[in-house]
Amino acid sequence: MATPRRVVPIAVEPPPATARVEAFFVRHRERFVWLQLAMCLVFVAFVFVPAWLPEPTLDDDATTHLALAANYAMWGLWFPLVLLSVVLTGRSWCGLFCPMGAASEWASRVGLQRPVPRWLRWSGVPVVSFVVVTILGQTLGVREHPEAVALVFGGTMALAVLFGAIWARAKRPWCRHACPIGLLLGVFSRLGAVQFEPKRPVPGGERYAEVGLCPTMIDIARKQASRHCIECFRCVHPQSQGGERLRLRRPGREVERIREHAPDATEVWFFFIATGTALGGFLWLMLPSYQTLRADVGVALLGLGWHWIGEAAPAWIASSHPQRGEVFSWLDVGMIAGYMLFWAAATAAALALATVASAWLAGQAGGDGTLRQRFVELGYLTMPVALVSLVIGLGSRLFEPLAALGDDAPAQAKQALFVIAVAWSLHLGNRILALQGVPARSRWRPLLPSMAGIGAVGLSWWAAIFGL
Ligand code: SF4
Ligand code: SF4
Repeated sequence: MATPRRVVPIAVEPPPATARVEAFFVRHRERFVWLQLAMCLVFVAFVFVPAWLPEPTLDDDATTHLALAANYAMWGLWFPLVLLSVVLTGRSWCGLFCPMGAASEWASRVGLQRPVPRWLRWSGVPVVSFVVVTILGQTLGVREHPEAVALVFGGTMALAVLFGAIWARAKRPWCRHACPIGLLLGVFSRLGAVQFEPKRPVPGGERYAEVGLCPTMIDIARKQASRHCIECFRCVHPQSQGGERLRLRRPGREVERIREHAPDATEVWFFFIATGTALGGFLWLMLPSYQTLRADVGVALLGLGWHWIGEAAPAWIASSHPQRGEVFSWLDVGMIAGYMLFWAAATAAALALATVASAWLAGQAGGDGTLRQRFVELGYLTMPVALVSLVIGLGSRLFEPLAALGDDAPAQAKQALFVIAVAWSLHLGNRILALQGVPARSRWRPLLPSMAGIGAVGLSWWAAIFGL
């Protein structure tokens, strides 16, 4: 984690509207548990029950069959809307609703309460967790099959409880260190309009605090970044001199001034890798060239005598639904995983190269700091495009109802979202360069490589955005 170079200025009194919102949530924070218990019931109804229901018929739709309703609720509403909601409300899903995070904390109150081990605190753990779960979701067919939803979400719920039962005391070790959804919501909450800031900030940068009241182990007085804050309001006491207070801010503000908010190289690599993983997960389904590649690789491996690649892979890693005409072989599992990893690596390499070029040019134009510091800060300008990539790639069903407005409407909505994301990235880049000390007349040069990288991502999304 890079050392911050300035301390965030703190306003004295919150505006009345913000104070009212803060007072409302402080007054009701003891009741969040009822929301979380209700979400446990919804979780069971939408994650587990559909896997046990009879197959829907061709006449069924989301209004007549729970499995179809649950599928649309999950992939057409919950995933894309929760992801987009961070721009307005930060990690409100985590703090108010999520049954998995709540279960992890409940288990942590009665479990072994061991110290969190060093390997789990490695910042790459949630990135690996995200890549593994995203690829597993594709090989299992999590967007099509209710059994896969039960396996993936039931598995993550079990891990959340297990982590809580072993490590930390009355905390959420799963949420802080390993949850792939928490990583997504956390890094993108930096773009959000909600911020909790210390009333009496202590300089020196973010610290990890396994002892204290914060369930995600934030050292409250040193808090600078939104990422790990799940908005539980436990540290907010309006009458007290200490703790945090709620602030509402312009979306993107934290990223514009990222050097004051604990910039983190792991997060930048995550934007790059996640964009590529989402691309790979979308393109293998869309591109005829993937099927050609799969056939060529299959023939080559059979020629080597690897006949086992044609056998069905086990149901815990592969789609295995003969009744629906889909059984993935070892070849399918290997090809899907390899194809997604290739796109993740290629996209990360392309965006990293573009960002290195931008950081070098920023230095040439008078930008302060080291090349690495400028790289990390400028890497954040890809955030809006990474966010939209994930919404389009993994939550594209959100756009399906727009077809009622015309056949082109879903594609046009995706195009509009992507254009807004590119414009926002450009704005963020301009503000980040301004804080680095690059004069306004020279900023176009360091912006060029990063925007070219983003343009390359846009071209790769051609099939998804333009519907070709
Ligand atoms: S980090 Fe994950 S498990 Fe924890 S509350 Fe957020 S989504 Fe739920
Ligand atoms: S910083 Fe405060 S509001 Fe945020 S997660 Fe920690 S205790 Fe909850």
